[in-house]
Amino acid sequence: MDEKIFQQIVSIVGPNNCSRDIEELHCYSYDSSKQTFLPDAIALPDSTAQVAALVGLANKHLFPIVARGAGSGTTGGALPTCGGIVLSCSRLNHILEIDCANQIAIVEPGVITGEFQQTLKKHNLMYAPDPASLKFCTIGGNVAECAGGPSAIKYGVTKDSIIGLEIVLANGEILTTGTRTEKGVVGYDLTRLFIGSEGTLGIITKIITRLLPLPEHKETFLLQSSSLQKATELVAIILQQNILPCTLEYMDKTALRLVSELLPDPPDDTTRAMLIIEIDGSKENVKEQSNQLKSLVAKQNSCTLQQATTDEEIQEIWLARRSISQASFKLSAHKTSEDVVVPRNRIPELVHFCEDLAKDLNITILTFGHAGDGNIHVNIMAANGSPKETKKSAKAKTALFHKVINMNGSLSGEHGVGITKSPFISLELNKTSIMVMRQIKNMFDPKNIMNPKKIFPDNG
Ligand SMILES: Cc1cc2nc3c(=O)[nH]c(=O)nc-3n(C[C@H](O)[C@H](O)[C@H](O)COP(=O)(O)OP(=O)(O)OC[C@H]3O[C@@H](n4cnc5c(N)ncnc54)[C@H](O)[C@@H]3O)c2cc1C
Repeated sequence: MDEKIFQQIVSIVGPNNCSRDIEELHCYSYDSSKQTFLPDAIALPDSTAQVAALVGLANKHLFPIVARGAGSGTTGGALPTCGGIVLSCSRLNHILEIDCANQIAIVEPGVITGEFQQTLKKHNLMYAPDPASLKFCTIGGNVAECAGGPSAIKYGVTKDSIIGLEIVLANGEILTTGTRTEKGVVGYDLTRLFIGSEGTLGIITKIITRLLPLPEHKETFLLQSSSLQKATELVAIILQQNILPCTLEYMDKTALRLVSELLPDPPDDTTRAMLIIEIDGSKENVKEQSNQLKSLVAKQNSCTLQQATTDEEIQEIWLARRSISQASFKLSAHKTSEDVVVPRNRIPELVHFCEDLAKDLNITILTFGHAGDGNIHVNIMAANGSPKETKKSAKAKTALFHKVINMNGSLSGEHGVGITKSPFISLELNKTSIMVMRQIKNMFDPKNIMNPKKIFPDNG
């Protein structure tokens, strides 16, 4: 990058909030996809005006600008694949307003999701989306990826909790979308267009979130089964019984073994799968639904249900669940994480397919995740980084994607496309969909400076 341009960046954000030092650039060159690309510079703006000035500069001098939250994305979204500036949102990290009367909040994109949730608890309110990465990911990254979490089954994903946005467009202009009210249907729904757009249409600088009252009561259960088929079949059966859990998470035996030590009562070797089931609401309603759940499970062979009785036990269960992704690196550093979605009554078919695929290719595959909405994390573990193992892992990924599409599913429930899934989007989207999406991208970003080479395959 030209020295003159860098000096303009310095004048926008100040000398302490930008850098071209190689050590610093490395810190912004990676994300959870485990790929790396060096930016030419990094900038840490602290206001919408500074973001607009940086984008204006990129627009004038035609260099890429890539927004970055915490870099926890698994699909390479925050990577500067074509160089340019990485725009870190770490200083745009303020909760600007909590409006208790209207149950909304206005936050900047760099706010850590879990910290926002903790702050809201003091007001007896909650922001529902709860990705497993909530202790470190940002709301801006969640909006850009449309993140989801265990509670999506009852409360929806990020797009269901966002009612308005402020966005800096590629030409430096500032767009506001949505309303501060629950309802508002004047014009197109631009808020939804930007949610899940992975930083390719503009930089989000403010977010208006919908809030909900904290549920009065919650009960947490662990269901263990010696049958993978039975445990996964139960997901759709529970939901057909008019039981609406706020969590219905699944882990197979390989995932379970990785974190079993963290659980209050580690399962024995006969356990093939486990479900975490939580029910929340008024005390009366929770008791009623919990009793329904207990009697349903009592009728099943090969299943046992345990209730967590203390806060400590509940925390241990969640620590175990949220640790699976990182713990899986114990099996191999060379893993591919997919977050496919299938109709939930077809989860048994998907997990058996993964077991067979693992046997056929002599590779380890573990499955876990948000079973309640059919969103299963499939971790494909190559034994090492050798060309042979990498080829097997790529073969498994391609086979998985074809299977999921044949099952009327989707390639991604929450991690987005980024660069790791872009070669596959035509499996799910037809030519017209891709063409319309490219036209939208061209309209908002005609010079292709906003996070280029993401979502769309290079070959056009
Ligand atoms: C252990 C672990 C568990 C995870 N569990 C879940 C889970 O349960 N559910 C889930 O959905 N995901 C999960 N993820 C993936 C990841 O945490 C999410 O995708 C998260 O939304 C990314 O947030 P981030 O702040 O890290 O964003 P980054 O990774 O920094 O960026 C992600 C994308 O958002 C864009 N972006 C960031 N900020 C802005 C902005 N202000 N304006 C425009 N674009 C922006 C970036 O350009 C990039 O394309 C997990 C990841 C890990 C490592």
